[in-house]
Amino acid sequence: MSDEFTTTVYYDEDADVSTLDDETVAVLGYGSQGHAHALNLHESGVDVVVGLREDSSSRADAEDAGLRVEAPDVAAAEADRVVMLVPDTVQPYVYEAIEDGLDAGDTLQFAHGFNIHYGQIEPPEDVDVTMVAPKSPGHLVRRTYERGEGTPGLIAVYQDATGDAKEESLAYAKGIGCTRAGVIETTFQEEVETDLFGEQAVLCGGVTEMVKAGFETLVDAGYAPEMAYFECLNELKLIVDLMYEGGHMGMWNSVSDTAEYGGLTRGEEVIDREGMEKILEEVQNGEFAREWINENQANRPAYKQYRDAEQNHQIEEVGGRLRELFAWGEDADAQKEEAPA
Ligand code: NAD
Ligand code: MG
Ligand code: MG
Ligand code: MG
Ligand code: MG
Repeated sequence: MSDEFTTTVYYDEDADVSTLDDETVAVLGYGSQGHAHALNLHESGVDVVVGLREDSSSRADAEDAGLRVEAPDVAAAEADRVVMLVPDTVQPYVYEAIEDGLDAGDTLQFAHGFNIHYGQIEPPEDVDVTMVAPKSPGHLVRRTYERGEGTPGLIAVYQDATGDAKEESLAYAKGIGCTRAGVIETTFQEEVETDLFGEQAVLCGGVTEMVKAGFETLVDAGYAPEMAYFECLNELKLIVDLMYEGGHMGMWNSVSDTAEYGGLTRGEEVIDREGMEKILEEVQNGEFAREWINENQANRPAYKQYRDAEQNHQIEEVGGRLRELFAWGEDADAQKEEAPA
């Protein structure tokens, strides 16, 4: 445990994988997170069964990797810990198929709190409900584990029927490698609300809108779309890499004094703080969640429209052409895999 942070950070010495020795863990889904959790746990000596539909194209992959595969309901019935690693929008349906397999004292575990926090899944009171969420895409959870390292992670306990929920969550986090890097404890509410806010206001929504608006401003003023693409999109990676490595000061120290002065004096102008507060409010009061749940139930009409518009934006055409022409194209494809969840 470290007390250099305002929140407690847990490391390898704070967790014991053998806490899970008497458990069978059912990992439902074999996608980004699922394959990484299942393989890392298996190699950490935990008894793992992967839950996949009969017609799942991932079955062969999981079996070839030496894992046991069963139908989700069979895996859940057998297991003491059921880990929901199918897409969030699919989880309520998968839960219906597996809920009979949750016995008193079992654990239902998530890697994101949406369905619990917004009441889409309501587990019985006699099971533990927990979260172990790597702060990283699954392929990095796997790749770092194989190198003897790990990715940072979160744990949270929503319901502690047995009294063991936290200790077992830490054991699981160690089993997938997260305590090698550091694990912090949060709540389902905090994880969900900060995750949704971050991806909407900053990471996914904020950044793409800012890039498009910058691109359009230059192109509408008569500048070459290729120039606009380089200045507003391509160079973003270089800036973000500097921020990732050295924080804001690391970035400011690396760019020119002109860029630093211009950025410090002008940046605030493009930020709509009231808009950000509205986004946070709609996350907190459940309005966004309701909208997205209804959208899914209606087969995603708005989602498809927004996606089409994005695909047909000029920046996609220009970018596609430029990425083909220049040598960093392949690198850009590799970057896509590392996008935030
Ligand atoms: P994913 O989309 O990569 O994989 C989901 C897997 O679920 C598929 O590969 C398939 O095996 C299975 N699946 C898909 N549709 C199904 C269906 N209709 N019925 C049954 N099984 C189906 O999902 P993911 O990104 O690994 O997300 C899993 C959980 O992890 C989510 O709760 C997500 O929020 C969370 N999470 C993801 C990341 C990330 O970087 N991807 C990071 C942290 C937490
Ligand atoms: Mg069971
Ligand atoms: Mg238990
Ligand atoms: Mg420049
Ligand atoms: Mg998210």
